[in-house]
Amino acid sequence: MLDVSSNRPDLPPEIARRRTFAIISHPDAGKTTLTEKFLLYGGAIQMAGQVRAKGEARRTRSDFMQMEKDRGISVSASAMSFDFNGLRFNLVDTPGHSDFSEDTYRTLTAVDAAVMVIDGAKGVESQTQKLFEVCRLRDLPILTFCNKMDRESRDTFEIIDEIQENLAIDVTPASWPIGTGKEFVGCYDLLRDRLELMDRADRNKIAETIEINGLDDPKLSEHVPAHLLDQFLEEIEMARELLPTLDPQAVLEGHMTPIWFGSAINSFGVKELMDGIGRYGPQPQVQSASPRNISPEETKVSGFVFKVQANMDPKHRDRVAFVRMAAGHFKRGMKLTHVRTKKPMAISNPVLFLASDRELAEEAWAGDIIGIPNHGQLRIGDTLTEGEALRVSGIPSFAPELLQGVRAGDPLKAKHLEKALMQFAEEGAAKVFKPSIGSGFIVGVVGQLQFEVLASRIEMEYGLPVRFEQSQFTSARWVSGDAQAVDKFTNTNKQHIALDNDGDIVFLTRLQWDIDRVARDYPDVVLTATKEMM
Ligand code: GDP
Repeated sequence: MLDVSSNRPDLPPEIARRRTFAIISHPDAGKTTLTEKFLLYGGAIQMAGQVRAKGEARRTRSDFMQMEKDRGISVSASAMSFDFNGLRFNLVDTPGHSDFSEDTYRTLTAVDAAVMVIDGAKGVESQTQKLFEVCRLRDLPILTFCNKMDRESRDTFEIIDEIQENLAIDVTPASWPIGTGKEFVGCYDLLRDRLELMDRADRNKIAETIEINGLDDPKLSEHVPAHLLDQFLEEIEMARELLPTLDPQAVLEGHMTPIWFGSAINSFGVKELMDGIGRYGPQPQVQSASPRNISPEETKVSGFVFKVQANMDPKHRDRVAFVRMAAGHFKRGMKLTHVRTKKPMAISNPVLFLASDRELAEEAWAGDIIGIPNHGQLRIGDTLTEGEALRVSGIPSFAPELLQGVRAGDPLKAKHLEKALMQFAEEGAAKVFKPSIGSGFIVGVVGQLQFEVLASRIEMEYGLPVRFEQSQFTSARWVSGDAQAVDKFTNTNKQHIALDNDGDIVFLTRLQWDIDRVARDYPDVVLTATKEMM
């Protein structure tokens, strides 16, 4: 078992041993491969390669949908739990594609840390940067894994500099690569003074570890060719001079990221990273909520929905609400209060996601992610408690950036279409607006690809071919403010007014000019581009 120095000594051990995190990366950096190796070490799968063994797909078990397999894009987030070295890891998968940034954002509200994977040859890429910014909004601690060191990669200092420069975060090396490309022999573990040697012959083998007694230990030259050793010693001297040393508190505050170098496909550096998550990653954190925040060690159970996924299993038309446990020790069968409706809910079939297998969750602790099958009662942003009226805050809904009208291929199926749309809206897969004038719906998304995903899902899950078509509107803003002013505003702008899927008023327009005009003409009306999910 790891010696985990607790940053919260007051936490019960079951909570203190939990690490709930997400992986962020640019597509192709190696997130899937790393996930697979995590699961391999966590004993959740027997053999690496199993997760992508079936057919052409090179996706992990975390990807449930056909669409994802076809497109090779992780469309929806899911959760996986596994044990390693006495720790319970909860890995929440984030969709990597930029079109799904809203979903990603919400996923990141459910984790306490993120692992940032970068490709050693490419460094910080566009999607890395975007996802990093989202993490920064919440000051999430970040641990970095520089992958593909078995290939020709960039100079180590250059990579570290690029992260410091582009992401404005201090970087401290937890390991240091020796050699690059074909000459890459392994890493020096700077935190524990060990040499880790990569075995190219067996990709699933755990690296050979050699304890080293300081950098002048002759054992180094037994394992590292002379020219590489010289360069390594020179680099280390420079690194110790120029780079900050590891400050666990700064890591927890999100100001510093430790970086490990490795090769996920060769299972190299992965165990060290997992140890690092255990040692330097945060334990379950306090959740902001109103009227008061929720601490994980509270004995009363609470949790919140950060994601809803429908039709995960086409054989069972259920929806699963993904709930991040915020506090307490949950036991199956508990009655929790659904705070939004004030109704009690018996949670009798909660599931735990152990790789792709769903298992009945007999219990869960703060930090865990459970799935609660339901028939639509649970929505994103909902809080469940043992009675107290708490609402977890900070789960936003963003104004869509693209709007399109939608029509059922068969006009007689309009009612079916409405049902399908409402369901996807509740999942958070799209915004659905019902204009106050005329019939039909307008669907809003963040990225074009979402329309295709929606069309495919509506057809697959509801047997309903649909067409998306251009809409006269391009932007949507939520309307709030003084009730009388809002009334007056909506009555005089009926052709621009719609209700969203929660029944909230929305102003639809094509021009920024219109939005500015409202600010001028209706000072008591507020237009916003985000809405807190409550
Ligand atoms: P994702 O898109 O971030 O999930 O990336 P994948 O895990 O699917 O990896 C993208 C490609 O890089 C795949 O072809 C992997 O086999 C390959 N890959 C992943 N890790 C490594 C590595 O450590 N070294 C090398 N050479 N290739 C890797």
